[in-house]
Amino acid sequence: MDMFCFQCEQTARGTGCTVQGVCGKSAQTATLQDLLIHAVKGISMYAHRAAQLGDRDRQIDVFVIEALFSTITNVNFDPERLHTLLLRAAEVRDLARALYEDSCAKAGESAEQLDGPAAWQPADDLAGLVQQGRDITIAHRLDSLGPDIAGLQELLTYGLKGLASYADHAQILGQEDPAVYAFVYEALDFLTRPDPTVDELVSLSLRCGQVNLTVMGLLDTANTTAYGHPTPTPVRVSPVKGKAILVSGHDLKDLEELLKQTDGKGVNVYTHGEMLPAHGYPGLNKHKHLVGNYGGAWQDQRKEFADFPGSILMTTNCIQKPQDGYKAHIFTCGLVAWPGVTHISDRDFSPVIRAALDAEGFTEDSPEQTITVGFGHNAVMSVADKVIAAVKSRKIRHFFLIGGCDGAKPGRNYYTDFAQQVPDDCVILTLACGKYRFNKLDFGSIDGIPRLLDIGQCNDAFSAIQIAVALAKAFECEVNDLPLSMVLSWYEQKSVVILLTLLHLGIKNIRLGPSLPAFVSPAVLNVLVDKFNIMPISTPAEDLKAILA
Ligand code: SF4
Ligand code: SF4
Repeated sequence: MDMFCFQCEQTARGTGCTVQGVCGKSAQTATLQDLLIHAVKGISMYAHRAAQLGDRDRQIDVFVIEALFSTITNVNFDPERLHTLLLRAAEVRDLARALYEDSCAKAGESAEQLDGPAAWQPADDLAGLVQQGRDITIAHRLDSLGPDIAGLQELLTYGLKGLASYADHAQILGQEDPAVYAFVYEALDFLTRPDPTVDELVSLSLRCGQVNLTVMGLLDTANTTAYGHPTPTPVRVSPVKGKAILVSGHDLKDLEELLKQTDGKGVNVYTHGEMLPAHGYPGLNKHKHLVGNYGGAWQDQRKEFADFPGSILMTTNCIQKPQDGYKAHIFTCGLVAWPGVTHISDRDFSPVIRAALDAEGFTEDSPEQTITVGFGHNAVMSVADKVIAAVKSRKIRHFFLIGGCDGAKPGRNYYTDFAQQVPDDCVILTLACGKYRFNKLDFGSIDGIPRLLDIGQCNDAFSAIQIAVALAKAFECEVNDLPLSMVLSWYEQKSVVILLTLLHLGIKNIRLGPSLPAFVSPAVLNVLVDKFNIMPISTPAEDLKAILA
């Protein structure tokens, strides 16, 4: 076996990628990512102990979050950049050890001598690092600890990766909470223990969901403080004549900087994928050259980017192997990386702008077509009275939250079919890239309330939770008693942590698809079914019948 990875939904044969990632990740890259997780566990062993003594160092905090985020599916495919990260990890580990030893000295305690990941020393070259990665691969833990414990360790690890992605976006916009970092260290330190129990790991995973709610709240504050609250905004989804840059991913700060740098340069900017919700923010849509949205979800990018007549900027994340035809005019920034693709590390987007000016651009306007985005919690709350009245008068029978991460599997047509079969007296809330399965369809409205409400990116699950809690308060019931059903698609580790957040909140009866995670063993699945009645999707007709019965 050259590698072992089963962290995402498209894992080979539904069990694990062992030769090369279905995502395009090489065995070398996968193994270096495993080693990076090992290294951040070592950092965390010290940082956790220092945090317990009241000390932290922001350099360590930010590095651990970025390292975790770098190992999420479709973020960093570049062995050279991972090599650099690993060397930096050893330096940061030394900083964490010094911090801990200082904390002990101040507290008059003697420092523990730590081994395992805390004592890791990077090999001299890339081949040596890959061998070190092979020595600690997940496959060994599956053999030694069994699928229940090793699978739960991975559930927690993937939850932490997802949490880290949101924490990273929030800290970029100035929102941090030391308690979040302290939890990450505690959890990663716990993952170095040789004999964890199922109960301990389930409980820590639900705490990961709890802390992620804090993180999504931080990110909501970060986004709305920087760019204002999203408001319902029509977005053009057909191109206009002119030079063009396409921006994909989730980083609003990168988009903002690009918009500033392209101001007056005669280049139009289009959003792609999870950047679509940017159009709802007043601080971003005030830029008139943010002209529209192009394409669909990430998994269609190889065809859509090949047809785009300008340059492309991938902010973190969800990049696929670029085709030769557009490799010269696609750029990465933030934590996303692909070997041979120009990376912009300082938000100086001049190369992206030059490439756009050199390209042909769109030669004519396409017929105008729009969709509406921007139904964040603030916008929905502002019409709460109308929504509540419509429910009380039975004009709205049920709410469906349909969304999550999207992927390439044919079974994902379920979500399109489900949305189309939702009866006319029901409202659909949606978020994340799963919405591209149906967001250009016309669902009409009920008493002026659109039947399709696009809440935003995957992290805007925070908004969905706020809306659900407000409805429960208005109807004086629990969220589980609302006429609300969640039909979620999952793909990578961000959806894992959002699921943990929903489970932490005690949300029951979630339908999950298109398949269940390979890292959740049958015994652990039974625990989740018993506690939360989580269930796999079946067919849209059967699921709708059961929900609306
Ligand atoms: S991230 Fe997904 S597709 Fe990529 S190697 Fe891991 S399991 Fe396979
Ligand atoms: S929601 Fe998930 S799958 Fe979709 S673009 Fe974002 S990270 Fe990728």
